[in-house]
Amino acid sequence: MSQSIQDFIATIGIVDVHEHHIPEILLNREVNLIQLFQQSYAGWTQARPYPLPSESRDSDPMLAVAGPTTWDALAPFLENSGSSSFVRNLVRAVTELHGNGEPAITRQNWEALDASVRQKHQQPNWCAEILRRAGIERLITDPYSDPLLDASLALGKNYSSVVRINSFACGWHPDSVDHNGNSAHVLLKRLGLEPASFDDYLAALEKLVDAMPSNHQVALKNALAYDRDVAFGDPDEKTARRAWGNPSPSSAERKAFGDFVVDRFCRLAGERDIPMQMHLGTGIIRGSHPMNVAGLVERHPRSRFLLMHLAYPWSRDLLGMAFVYRNIWIDLTWSLLLSPSHFKLALHEAIEILPDESRMMIGGDNWHVEETYGTMKLARQLIGEVLEEKLAAKYFSEADARRLAKRILRDNAVKFFKLA
Ligand SMILES: [Zn+2]
Repeated sequence: MSQSIQDFIATIGIVDVHEHHIPEILLNREVNLIQLFQQSYAGWTQARPYPLPSESRDSDPMLAVAGPTTWDALAPFLENSGSSSFVRNLVRAVTELHGNGEPAITRQNWEALDASVRQKHQQPNWCAEILRRAGIERLITDPYSDPLLDASLALGKNYSSVVRINSFACGWHPDSVDHNGNSAHVLLKRLGLEPASFDDYLAALEKLVDAMPSNHQVALKNALAYDRDVAFGDPDEKTARRAWGNPSPSSAERKAFGDFVVDRFCRLAGERDIPMQMHLGTGIIRGSHPMNVAGLVERHPRSRFLLMHLAYPWSRDLLGMAFVYRNIWIDLTWSLLLSPSHFKLALHEAIEILPDESRMMIGGDNWHVEETYGTMKLARQLIGEVLEEKLAAKYFSEADARRLAKRILRDNAVKFFKLA
């Protein structure tokens, strides 16, 4: 019996609800082994790519130019951070796709692996071939280097994208930018919109949302947990208006502006039945607890919220919220990469507590297709193991387990994002 549920899961075509596949990485033909490490979650073991409020940075280390691969450049990942789940996932994928599935990258094999990475990425169909081998049918990407990107045009017909709203929540002044360096005013100008007042700005946001379907954009994405806390308070229009046009509003005015814009996006999304994907957990960790968004979720009962990453490390709090608020769905993305063992524990509980089987979806959250390949292989394995354990405990039948597996990996995403 245990063999058959894993075999069944291996046949499911995945609808991947979250990647960071962007043209400057995915279409780049000059890729080497060290780049796969730098531009992946393994890279986060060396440099967190977002600053805390107490820090600043000149540029995103993930998008910095990487030098040639050397053993000295690889060693910090493989020897100092070799126990990290992020590193384990990438090593497994790289050795499987570019070597013979050997268990480690070593002084002996790194040059051959690097040569294969460089040679394979020269082939224009390499990325599509790896996604096919990963069994991924469709992907939704968050192209934060260009939040307005039409990914279907830029990356291929099997892609849709989300519109990251961070810059708009920080758009009180033409010079204000979000943590990715994006300016709302620059983005709106590309749509032919140049708001001269706060009211113009709100009208422009509505036009932006209305333009989404024609750009293959299937959801809004709130990643403000990397810019500020996620305690999106009741709209305070008076204070929000005071931020408008000011290059350095007070922190209360900045917060009120962001709160107001986020609230407006949630309302617009609800009216149009467009989902709102939201990063929770880690990020600016002092403010990213999932309970901080309870007010926003309550104020917008018609809006469908897809809350991400099991809000690690607060997965139990998130599942409790998803039990209470029926406009919450769970994006399991990243949680399985952060900690495979915690993911299994949380998935057991999620299966038991969620009100219906539509609630869970899966994504890769990666930059290069090698990492995506490894993540999806890990996702199939871990979901299979949890379902095997549920079957061994006679929790439900094999038919129940198969139906749920297909829903998590594929069917729920098709329905939720209206991809059919
Ligand atoms: Zn992500």
